[in-house]
Order: sequence, then C-alpha cells, then structure tokens
Amino acid sequence: MSPDELLAEIQATFPKIEMPSRRELRFHSDGCSQCAYLSEYLDERRNQHVDGAMIRYMHQEMCCLSSKGWAWALPHYLPFCLTPEAEYNQMETEFLIYNLGPSEEHRDEQRIRLSALTRPQIRCLALFLDWLGMHPKWSEYCPEDIERALQFVRECDT
Ligand SMILES: [Zn+2]
Repeated sequence: MSPDELLAEIQATFPKIEMPSRRELRFHSDGCSQCAYLSEYLDERRNQHVDGAMIRYMHQEMCCLSSKGWAWALPHYLPFCLTPEAEYNQMETEFLIYNLGPSEEHRDEQRIRLSALTRPQIRCLALFLDWLGMHPKWSEYCPEDIERALQFVRECDT
C-alpha cells in the first residue's frame, strides 16, 4: 500500500470530529495533573488547526486522553505520521506505536481508550501498523513493537 493509498483510507475512515469538552478529554479522575494540563492545552486550541506542535505536545501524554479524546485526535494524528515532518521527528510515530502496543498491565486501559473507535477504524489502525511494518525505516527500527501493536489492535477487533 502506498502512502497516498493509506492516507486516503485514513481520511475515509477517520473523519474529523469536534473536540470533546475539556472534561470529556480526560482519561483519569480529577487527581491527575497531566490530564488537567493536556485537556487545558487542547481546550485552549479548540478552534485551531491541529498542527505538528499540537501532536508533539500530545504524543507523550496520550495515556491521559479519554476514548473520546482518542477518537478526536487520531483523524489528525494518523495523517501527520505520513508527513515529512513526522518522518524527520520520528518520536510522534514512535510513541503512537508504543501506545498501540501496551505492556500486559496497561492493555485493559488502552482497550478503553480505543473503545470509541468503530470497527473500520480499528481495522484502519491495523492497516497503518501493517504499513509501518513494511516501511524501510520503521521495519528496521522497531519491528517487535510494531508487531505487538498489530496483535493488540487485531485483538480489539473482536
Ligand atoms: Zn491522566
């Protein structure tokens, strides 16, 4: 699958949706300050274009984003991973791979974060990971992480 074909698939499967309310963006309860920072940061940029800077702010904090937050973010995050900017930075894509392939003790929580996605969206995530698994750079860099993410995402499609 070419990057253009993958992008078309992502755009067809992940239409952009309105950002959830600040409270709805939070994954953890009121005690989590990272949730508070992230939801405040995003809420302040509610009507802005979701650019590389916003994705970079989010990429290490995706565990503090609710299922509605993930459903909102992925239509921006996934296409970003196909840009030259993301190819150069690497870390946004890398963290997404890690987030999609959680360790045993984090699997239940990650399943909840992906629970607002439709089955076609889950399958599109698998396509994205498949593509990374065949990508000349990513397939060299972290093939085991991609494989773990692929297995996890496929399990979510049941
Ligand atoms: Zn949190």
